[in-house]
Amino acid sequence: MIVGIDLGTTHSLIGRFDESGSRLFPNALGDVLTPSVVSVDDDGHVIIGQAARDRMVSHPEASVASFKRWMGTARETKLGKRSFRPEELSALILRSLIADAEAATGEKVTEAVISVPAYFSDAQRKATRAAGELAGIRVERLINEPTAAALAYGIQEQRDGARFLVFDLGGGTFDVTVLELFDGVVEVHASAGDNFLGGEDFLDALEAAFLADHKLGSHDLSAQQLGQLRRRLELVKRELSQQTEVRLNFALGERQIDWSITQDRFNQIVDPLLQRMRTPLERAMRDARVQPEQLDEIVLVGGASRMPLVSRLIARMFGRLPMRHIHPDQTIALGACVAAGMKSRDERLEEVILTDVCPYTLGTEIGQMDDHGRVQTGIYSPVIHRNSVVPVSREDTFWPMRDGQRALNLKVYQGESPMVVNNIKLGELEIKLDPKRPRTESAVKLRFTYDINGVLQVEAQVLATGEKYELILEQNPGLLSQEEIRTRLARLDELKIHPRDKQENLALIARAERLYEEHIQARAQLQEWIARFRSILESQDDMSIREHHREFGRALDALEQMR
Ligand code: AMP
Repeated sequence: MIVGIDLGTTHSLIGRFDESGSRLFPNALGDVLTPSVVSVDDDGHVIIGQAARDRMVSHPEASVASFKRWMGTARETKLGKRSFRPEELSALILRSLIADAEAATGEKVTEAVISVPAYFSDAQRKATRAAGELAGIRVERLINEPTAAALAYGIQEQRDGARFLVFDLGGGTFDVTVLELFDGVVEVHASAGDNFLGGEDFLDALEAAFLADHKLGSHDLSAQQLGQLRRRLELVKRELSQQTEVRLNFALGERQIDWSITQDRFNQIVDPLLQRMRTPLERAMRDARVQPEQLDEIVLVGGASRMPLVSRLIARMFGRLPMRHIHPDQTIALGACVAAGMKSRDERLEEVILTDVCPYTLGTEIGQMDDHGRVQTGIYSPVIHRNSVVPVSREDTFWPMRDGQRALNLKVYQGESPMVVNNIKLGELEIKLDPKRPRTESAVKLRFTYDINGVLQVEAQVLATGEKYELILEQNPGLLSQEEIRTRLARLDELKIHPRDKQENLALIARAERLYEEHIQARAQLQEWIARFRSILESQDDMSIREHHREFGRALDALEQMR
């Protein structure tokens, strides 16, 4: 079966397209949203999802979240005895989602369409595919998140002939897409975004304000305390979406901190983040050549778009209020399911045609001789301009600077600045030349091909000899080679993962351990409950486990409400 997956910074979802349309599958705890958090317990067992998120508070050194932000980099995270690349952490989330889909359908998952932020770079896209391979599935198709949202929206609402803007503010990324729906065609006109702007940055801003108000540095708190504080501030952030003022009582060792923050102050603190949203919004509108009054609708997706300041920004910039999707955090996944349905050639989707764009400019570095014969290097020469319709293939011809040059060093960049230093380097390739040939006869033809998945291929050909080169962008340290993927796959297969049917119990213990960290006065009680529950688990008596699970859960609910 082909599934659709939203592999999000804070949450991930899985589903497929069936008789009733897009359908999301619940995890072992009955939720369709699985926190994108990985933790490793003392025995080296891997824990994924809600239990791992609770362990961020009780076992911060053995837990990790928000690793989508490191995709496309070589950053390693140590958890217990092992360290993991971002692709591996993502693969563990994927494996858990796949187990949920297989449990719900009884069918095997062979392939997935995964959504990625439109503004994800080449390395980040390849890392997402590598995560798929590490999870043992094929990922041929990547779909841009706002495009997926539009697909879900267009099909659900059956809107026709409408031009709209999708504003997608997730946990870690921000994307803006302007598109049009007509006769079953979903046509993206322009995408723009910021890969490092999302709900988590608003939480960081809140944390910085809290610490500054109490003259604390982040090193004044233990990792546990910081984990606890962030969890509580996340709730504050969400409450601020509904209330004008929110209070927080936080125990820092002996010190009781009573803090309150108003919506106005929050708006002030995060104003720089809000300002950063303007540029992609303006750019997408300009590139799509659309005036605000020509938009039929503005659709909000991504959990962080629930913040009222988002609607206000839009009202100011576009002179109207946006449409809020009923489930802003499910829309992308529902669209990924539609894309999975298209891939498996579901006949109800045969009429749907999707065209997308490349959101950034791709090009190469060149040197130029000025009037005094001096060579100026570092100049950017675009080959594919941003917002070209994909798939796109463009050629350009380059010559060496001097006669007798033995090689041409080709560097590929992504970005919009005329100087390469300000752009992102994707990789490089050395093309051998015949030094005896004059420069005018040493032309090299470059071809850039950007496919529907947003993956770039670069080919070069020395015209005089016909010799061809293909740029393997894998030389980038942020990418795993096929060889490394094989070794890491074998290592992941050796990991012990808590079985799905034990997850409910595991999540309950993780939650109790988190509450133990948070509620000093209830510690003795919690310790006793945890010990009792563990011994009942050991008895392996299913009836009694179920009964105590319910009871234990209710006791924890009551404790949580006392906050
Ligand atoms: P997503 O990746 O789409 O699930 O977005 C998750 C992000 O949305 C996280 O940073 C959450 O903190 C944020 N978020 C979810 N609900 C709310 C809310 N009610 N108010 C503010 N932020 C929210």
